[in-house]
Amino acid sequence: MRAQVLEAFNQPYIFKKIPKPSSPKGHELLVKVEAASYCHTDAVFASGAMWQTLPRVGSHEFAGTIVALGEAVSPDQNLQVGLPVGVPGRAFHPCGKCYECTNNDGDPDGYGVWCTKAGNLGLACDGGFEEYCLVDSRQVAPIPSNMTAVETAPLMCAGVTIWNALQTARVRMETGGGIGKTIAISGAGGGLGHLGVQFAVKLGCKVIAIDTSDAALDLLKGIVQDLGPWGVNVSIVDARKQTAEQTRSAISQPRAGLEDEVGADAVLILPEAQQAFDYGMKLLRNHGICVMVSFPKDGLHFHPRDLVFRHISMVGVLVGRNRQLRAMLNFAAKEGVRARVTTYKLEQLNQLVADYHQGASGKLVVDMSK
Ligand SMILES: [Zn+2]
Ligand SMILES: [Zn+2]
Repeated sequence: MRAQVLEAFNQPYIFKKIPKPSSPKGHELLVKVEAASYCHTDAVFASGAMWQTLPRVGSHEFAGTIVALGEAVSPDQNLQVGLPVGVPGRAFHPCGKCYECTNNDGDPDGYGVWCTKAGNLGLACDGGFEEYCLVDSRQVAPIPSNMTAVETAPLMCAGVTIWNALQTARVRMETGGGIGKTIAISGAGGGLGHLGVQFAVKLGCKVIAIDTSDAALDLLKGIVQDLGPWGVNVSIVDARKQTAEQTRSAISQPRAGLEDEVGADAVLILPEAQQAFDYGMKLLRNHGICVMVSFPKDGLHFHPRDLVFRHISMVGVLVGRNRQLRAMLNFAAKEGVRARVTTYKLEQLNQLVADYHQGASGKLVVDMSK
């Protein structure tokens, strides 16, 4: 079968024929890949900055159709040959015994997304930049009938991550569940951010959408336009031109001397930049929550006094549980949340990567039907 294989760090992918995976065993499914999306983590992996080994087929957010099932796939999961499914990276072959696998908050028995023994498709084992891929039956989500594989793929990492970030920001995850909340998104015009803006608004939140490049701000203007009447709940902020203090006081007018009462209920930090973190922290009201999604390699400086005197919480998120993945995908289908995508043929993956590094906006997706 055709695949794009990373054989050396900081080198292009090699487009070549490799053997089709063997028949699925145990909890595995064999999926015919129809779309595979490129994530920032693919770029980090290809740079050699992670701990995994080569050769590797990348992509940990993809979608396709089930072509075969292993003998241990539970009938409770209602999976069958021909069913279209979205596939996230985590978790392939969880151990079934550890704390994560046995305290999984409603996911299938013995399946823990954060099991430390599990693999991550596209990183520790092969992912979606190939025609057929072995996946774990407990990691997938059936694709709603009004969504395509190309629309689904970019939601499998970016979508579920930002959904989990909003849930961690104490938003109730149902239509209208965010009414009364103000959520600031730093890096709102990026791959995760533009999905976060749409989810947050459709959940009922007011959104402060912050970015610092013309391309990202233009993407945000387009998103707001597409949101129609919902768009009034999004304020786009160019952080190059507006200080955090100005942005914060625009959220609502403070009573004189009581400036700490106003501000965002939560801020999601997506860029790997100290300035983005500092700006976001200044937007929070007392008791607010800072959700870290990015993890800059040199770390960040923070002031414990913000946590102590302003009672701000800081927490990080990494992808989400299978039940969150399914809820996110169903919500996206129902409420019309879609990534802005540019599609490429499988053989054009290196062009996709070049465009990514040039700052192409939205999500870049390999469409196998091209
Ligand atoms: Zn990812
Ligand atoms: Zn485990």
